Amino acid sequence: MRFIFKIDLRRLILLLAVGTALLTLSYTLYGGYQAERELLIRQTLESNRAYAQKLAQSTNHFLQSLQRQVAFSSAIIQDNLDDLNLLNAEVERLKEQSQSFNSVLVVDHNARALANAPSNLGLKGELIYSEGAREALLFKRPMISQPYLSVSGTTPLLLFISHPLYDRNGTYRGYVGGSIYLQSDNSLTTLLGEHFHRDGSEIYVVDQSRRLIYHQSGERIGEIVNGNDAIEDVILGISGARQLITPQAKNMLVGYASIEHSGWGIIAQRPTSATLDELNELLKKVITTTVPFILLLIIALWYLAKLISAPLHSLATAAPDWGSDDATERIRTVHSWYFEAAQIKKAMLIGLGLLNKKLGVLDQERLTDPLTGLRNRRSMLQTAISWIEQKRSFVIIACDIDNFKQVNDSFGHTVGDAVLQLVAQRILAASREHDEVCRTGGEEFLLMLSHISLEDGVRIAERLRSDIENMPSPTGEPITISAGVASWSGPPLSFEAALESADKGLYLAKQNGRNRVEIAER
Ligand code: GH3
Ligand code: MG
Ligand code: MG
Repeated sequence: MRFIFKIDLRRLILLLAVGTALLTLSYTLYGGYQAERELLIRQTLESNRAYAQKLAQSTNHFLQSLQRQVAFSSAIIQDNLDDLNLLNAEVERLKEQSQSFNSVLVVDHNARALANAPSNLGLKGELIYSEGAREALLFKRPMISQPYLSVSGTTPLLLFISHPLYDRNGTYRGYVGGSIYLQSDNSLTTLLGEHFHRDGSEIYVVDQSRRLIYHQSGERIGEIVNGNDAIEDVILGISGARQLITPQAKNMLVGYASIEHSGWGIIAQRPTSATLDELNELLKKVITTTVPFILLLIIALWYLAKLISAPLHSLATAAPDWGSDDATERIRTVHSWYFEAAQIKKAMLIGLGLLNKKLGVLDQERLTDPLTGLRNRRSMLQTAISWIEQKRSFVIIACDIDNFKQVNDSFGHTVGDAVLQLVAQRILAASREHDEVCRTGGEEFLLMLSHISLEDGVRIAERLRSDIENMPSPTGEPITISAGVASWSGPPLSFEAALESADKGLYLAKQNGRNRVEIAER
């Protein structure tokens, strides 16, 4: 037999259901994750942008307020530059009152310092030529300098905010200015440093030359940053938000805003990974809680697939054995609990019923003698095998019509046939329902009578012989038969030996003058 591998229904259903479930689930997870990710990124960008904007406004206000402070001082002192006490008191007040400046100077139009705070600065009487100072003298108007390094180089990055001094005649007399050391604590750094996150978020400020003038990690202040698109935008005065890779190859969500008053840019950024960490954690949690559910689902699907495929599977495996005796029983016991299986089962049972009926008829024909309707030699052998298997004792009566050739010769074949049919009827009448009655040859018959003794067999044969002798015959003359009787009462005697013995009896009967019953000697 050739086996061809074909996937079965149960595996197909399982594959389909589990496949669909897994695909749907992973697609839902993936889709949800993507949507959530995009939302988070957008929200972070927006909050960074808003935060940068807010800080830019605050810084702007702060710088304006510093300018107002120096303007206010200039109004107080510009007509009293000779009053050193007033100058000293004013620079002290300006420095101490708001704690915004690290140092304050009053400088005359010759660049000579008239007063300074703190008083230990030691600049009084010195010529001041720092970058901020030179700008103030040159432009003679309110100024916020670009950040610069102090002349000595020892002072960190400075920012200088100044206001010109004009006396009541409108003559330029110098300026009053305050400096902010960008790397030291002051109101500006406090303002910018409020933003603290442990997740890698950072705030920094760049000036027009892309120099970091404020950074959370102080040591980076003064560094020039090139190749950052957000910085390029912000120094052009553009505010906005974008996701970008920094020159340090970090993926960042960046919000930025320019500070109108100074041309600086504020940048608020958060690593993309920090933003997504929580989401990734959530996804992991969802997956770990989903896995047991998926396993349960697979078990449930496996069970359901088995339930659905079971009837069809049983019917399918019974199908190749249609010829076997228990096929009908196997199909009948299949629990076909749903419509299609029930219909297929019904169809198979009907088909099998028809087939068996047809086979039965064929079998009947195969085992029957058409002329007399008795069983034939083939049937006799089959019955013998079966009875011997069952160890069922029986008696054999072998009969043969006497001088039948003469009947044919004298009356023709048709009359001969009629005689054969008549004799067959008599023999049948002499037997019981379960006995085997056969026409074994032309005018030869054989009876197999179960569960009787040899003596009873002889009696029955004798009665049959006399019955046939006395029956009316189409030839007008009595028909007679000769018979031999033998018995089979179990091994070691074979059926063939018993048959031979009956034939010997028949031969004896013929020899002894016909129309008689004989038992062969053993
Ligand atoms: P014996 O007493 O020794 O048995 O003689 P017999 O003539 O009966 O035996 P034989 O074997 O010489 O002849 C048997 C005859 O039976 C020969 C044959 O023509 C006839 N015969 C066999 N089958 C049929 C049949 O189906 N129909 C008819 N009409 N005759 C048959
Ligand atoms: Mg014969
Ligand atoms: Mg004969």
